[in-house]
Amino acid sequence: MKRLFGVVLLLLLAFSGCASEIDNPEPIETKSFASCITVTVSREHRDFGSFTAGPAGDADSAVKLVQAALERYPAGFTDQWGPVEILLVGDLTGTESFAGGRYAGFTQRLGDGWRMVLDADRLNAGTIHHEIAHILDGILTEAGALTETEWMAFCPSGFAYGPEQALCPDFFADAYAMTDIREDRARTFEEAMLWGPGVYADSPALWLKLEYLSRAIRTHFDTIGWPEKTDWELALE
Ligand SMILES: [Zn+2]
Repeated sequence: MKRLFGVVLLLLLAFSGCASEIDNPEPIETKSFASCITVTVSREHRDFGSFTAGPAGDADSAVKLVQAALERYPAGFTDQWGPVEILLVGDLTGTESFAGGRYAGFTQRLGDGWRMVLDADRLNAGTIHHEIAHILDGILTEAGALTETEWMAFCPSGFAYGPEQALCPDFFADAYAMTDIREDRARTFEEAMLWGPGVYADSPALWLKLEYLSRAIRTHFDTIGWPEKTDWELALE
């Protein structure tokens, strides 16, 4: 998820090559900018258990942000994530263990695919790449391509993830990255997508984290047709 410090309209539907389809009963408008990905603008209140959400407001700019973000991933890559349901909502708020907080987005397993819930009113490119990183993390971890032991080698000796720690900027993108290994991976990837070459030039540990993620992605996924350097790999230069 990404913490903020800060009637259904189906806009996009393209299922070619998906392992299975996400059932969505009320498609009103369909577009196609990435296979296996649906973008739905929620017009109702929803309860996700740990989060609640209201209807999205004007979501046109949010849809454009999602499209622009997805276009930065190699052709054929998104097909390999399984079906992804992107739900644009409003007033995304934490409950239960996340109570009291406003959130920009979260991602959860949905059958053999994923559901990504994004607050359309607070959306930015970083949040989308952050949530995509959670999907990649989930796939790679389930496949054994990422391990906690290997990752912890890039963290300070004796470090344990948890809240309210003094920031250790040589090893982590920010304090939020220090709360959970998955948030660390997502923030590391997100910064690479946002800032590109040189982003970790002065942070050897963060460079190694990104290199580890990049290598796992190349090893696990079918990379036929990919550019020599993907956008996240350009951040290693
Ligand atoms: Zn997150």
